[in-house]
Parts: sequence; C-alpha cells; structure tokens
Amino acid sequence: MTKGPDPRPLTGEPLALDLLNTTWVDEAGLHDLLDDSERARTWLKRWQLDEAAGPRALENLRSARAALRGLLEHPDDEGAQAALDAVLARGRVRLTFDAGHPGERVEVPAPWRASWLAARDLLQLLEHRPDRIKPCANPDCVLWFADTTRSATRRWCSMTGGCGSRLKARRHYDRQRSQPPG
Ligand SMILES: [Zn+2]
Repeated sequence: MTKGPDPRPLTGEPLALDLLNTTWVDEAGLHDLLDDSERARTWLKRWQLDEAAGPRALENLRSARAALRGLLEHPDDEGAQAALDAVLARGRVRLTFDAGHPGERVEVPAPWRASWLAARDLLQLLEHRPDRIKPCANPDCVLWFADTTRSATRRWCSMTGGCGSRLKARRHYDRQRSQPPG
C-alpha cells in the first residue's frame, strides 16, 4: 500500500469502478487523478499495476476509462460496446497446463495492462452482478459503486460526509422551508 493521503473520494470499489472514480466533482470543481502523471502512478501503484506507468499507459487508461463509462451509461449503444471491445482486443487470456495444474495467464502489452484488466473486471461485474453496478443517486455526482449490501438498497457513493448526508440535509432544509408558518 502506498503511504500518504489517499485523494480518492471513494475507496474499496473493484478495479473497473475505481478507474471510473479517478475523476470526480466536488465543491472545488472537477478532479482527475489521470491528469497528473505522479498521481496517476500512485493510483496504479495501489493496484500494483505501476510497472508501466508511462505516457502511453496513461493515455490508454484515459481512453479505457471513457469506454467503461460510455458502456455503463449507454449499455445498448453500439459505439460504446465497440469501444469497450477495442480495449479488450488489446490482450487475451492464455490457458495453461503447467506442472500438472490447469491455469491461465494474462497476455497483454505493458502499456495496456491496467486498461485491459479494468475492462475485464467490468465484464466480470456485468456477468455476475449487473444490477449491483450503480451510479451515485446524487445527480451532481459522477461516482460509481458496486452495491454489496444484502438488501441491494445502497444509493449513495458515501453516507458519511458524502452525497447521502448532503442530500439528506438539503431535503431536510427544503422540507422545513416548505412548511407553512405555524
Ligand atoms: Zn455521490
């Protein structure tokens, strides 16, 4: 694990969604961890994917991020599907049989490795729990999360100090204002 403060507003999400969440909006404006090579490297390091963190890998990551977001926002759009497929085409899984054990090995050029693994992660999420991949219910928020609650009722990226509590506070305020004067 990398030392130092973690700038991410949301942690603990799977790789595909953590890549999407490298950009976010708050009171200070738009943030993008991939706009800065040092912060991008730190992000890659958290996933132990910083072996190739050069300009090409960053460029690929940005296009992979756009492809992932495009597909989640417009799952039926053929262009969005093709963009995700183009990232997946950069690598493959080679089945192996080594020392009597079946296995598999990911084969992908270093500058595409992180992007390809994120795209593959999205496929796995879509295959197993598509209904659990959710955007934050705050319309001003661009974060995504995997809902792991038993009841599948999570709606906000964060309840503590995040969108959930902010929106609840605003609704509370609006309710009080809309009440007729007693
Ligand atoms: Zn949010």
